[in-house]
Order: sequence, then C-alpha cells, then structure tokens
Amino acid sequence: MGLFSKISTLFTGKRELDAVNAESLTDALITADIAPELAESLVARLRARGTISESEAKQILFDAMRPIVDKLEGLKFEGGGKSQLPQTSNLKPQTSAKPLVLLVIGVNGAGKTTTIGKMAKIWHDVGKRVVIAAADTFRAAAGEQLAEWATRAGATLITGGNDPASVAYAAVDYGMKNDSDIVVIDTAGRLHNRADLMDELAKITRVLKKLIPDAPHETLLVLDANTGQNALAQIEYFHAVAPLSGLIVTKMDSTSRGGFLATYAANNKSPLPVYAIGYGEKIGDLRPFDADEYLRKLLDM
Ligand code: GDP
Repeated sequence: MGLFSKISTLFTGKRELDAVNAESLTDALITADIAPELAESLVARLRARGTISESEAKQILFDAMRPIVDKLEGLKFEGGGKSQLPQTSNLKPQTSAKPLVLLVIGVNGAGKTTTIGKMAKIWHDVGKRVVIAAADTFRAAAGEQLAEWATRAGATLITGGNDPASVAYAAVDYGMKNDSDIVVIDTAGRLHNRADLMDELAKITRVLKKLIPDAPHETLLVLDANTGQNALAQIEYFHAVAPLSGLIVTKMDSTSRGGFLATYAANNKSPLPVYAIGYGEKIGDLRPFDADEYLRKLLDM
C-alpha cells in the first residue's frame, strides 16, 4: 500500500496541515522507509504552503524529491523494450573492455541469482555472448538454480570445484578464449557480517586481475527493497568490503516501494547509480531505474 492511501483522509478537500496531521504524515513517510530528518523536512515544506489539496501535496513532495532521486539515475540506458538495461558500451562508458567482467554481491536471498538470469537474458536478446560464473559454491541449490536461469537466458554457465575464486577465474578465462562480451560472477550471499567475506572477495578480485588487470569492471550490490533502512547499512558495509559501482534493487513489486533509496540519495552527494529494478520473479521482470516512475509509485500518483 502506498503512503498516501493510508492518509488520504488528511487531505479531503483543501486544508492546512495542523500539527496532528503533520505528525501522522511524517509517520507515514517514515513507515515508507524515508529517514525521519528527510520526512520532517518534507512535511515542513508542505506546512509552509498553507492550504493545499491532496494532489497539490503530492506534487510538492514530488518536486522536492525529484532532484534528490535524480542523482540515482547516473547512467544512460538504451531505450526500448527488452534492451532497456545497460549495454556493455554504456554500462561502463570509459572502457571498451571485452569481456566486461561484473561481480554481483549481496546478502543471501536478496535476488542475485534471479537478477543475473534476467540481465543475461536481456543481453543475450541483443546479441551479447554471456558467461555466468557460479562462484556461490557454498549453497548446493544455488548452482542448480543458476543453471536453470543460464539455460533460459542462453548463457554459458561455468561451475566446478569449491573455490569461488577458481570458478571466477575459469569463467573469465573461458570468456577471453571464446570471444564473450560479458562475464557475470555470482558470489556467495553469506551474511554480510561474516568476517571472511572480505577475504573471499579480495581473493576473487586478485585472480581476476591476473587475467584482466582492471577487472572487475563493475561491482554491483543487489538489495531487497523489503530490507528497508537496513539496506543503507548494507551499502556502507559492502562498499567498504569491495568498492561498488552500482546498485540493483529487487522486489519492488512487493509492498515496499524502496523508500530507502530517497533517503540514500538525500544523504549522499554522489550516491551510487541504481542500474536496475527487479519487479517480479519472472525472467522479464527487470527494468532500468527511472526517478520519475519511482517517485510516482512511492507517492501513489
Ligand atoms: P540470492 O540468494 O541473492 O541469489 O537470491 P535469489 O535470486 O535466489 O532470490 C531469492 C528469492 O527472491 C527467490 O524466491 C526469487 O524468486 C525472489 N526474487 C528475486 N527477485 C525478485 C523480484 O524482483 N520480485 C520478487 N517478487 N521476487 C524476487
């Protein structure tokens, strides 16, 4: 349920927000994962406008949040249908790396494997040769799940052994020898407070660099929209472990509308770009982040 449906009574007809209504609106924003300080400043803006209608209130919030959330768009995407995800060329405009090596990280259950399958399908459909590395060697089911996604996406899956770094190495090696465009590495989604995660990611990075000195070209963090404000802690944690280049937010089809993203953008001068949004469990349920669309959903416009 969107934030305004809960409180539409506040704006029946035109009215001024009194202290009580201002408080319930602030609470509703906080429930939508907007940080308290941002929520309070947004409500203060509304109160400063005096008598307003519901649609005027939404527009004021939209206008206030738009420049903040705009910062998350970061990259240009090729438009149109299924090719809306970043292509190799504009995913990393500075380099024409081939293969482009992407490391995908995030906590267990965030949606890494599913998202990799969706991305591989989009790239495959526009003629890219994609290799997926099953470097999540800790979960037996992860390998099978990935194999299924790889088949559906027309990608080559590299598995084997129980050492994530050697699977990653083998995948990039395969990609270099087979003229692949993109190598995506699915890492283990162990709890982000496990101390050895840093060692493992460092080891993966080290072996990748033996083959391609500037790999990985992208390190993407997958976040579940339902984790709310905790997602902010995850960004900070993972960024310290492995410098991130972008975010992907999954499960935007759930009750959560990813309000934490607005807080994240408000708290950072140059936030990481959001590369894509997952909005379902099917292979086609991934699209680029669009600030306008995001805010309209968040505000029930
Ligand atoms: P991983 O552990 O990070 O690799 O996560 P998985 O890819 O295995 O996904 C965990 C669960 O979340 C699975 O049941 C997926 O179907 C589900 N999931 C992933 N992305 C989305 C999404 O965008 N929307 C919904 N509703 N479910 C998703």
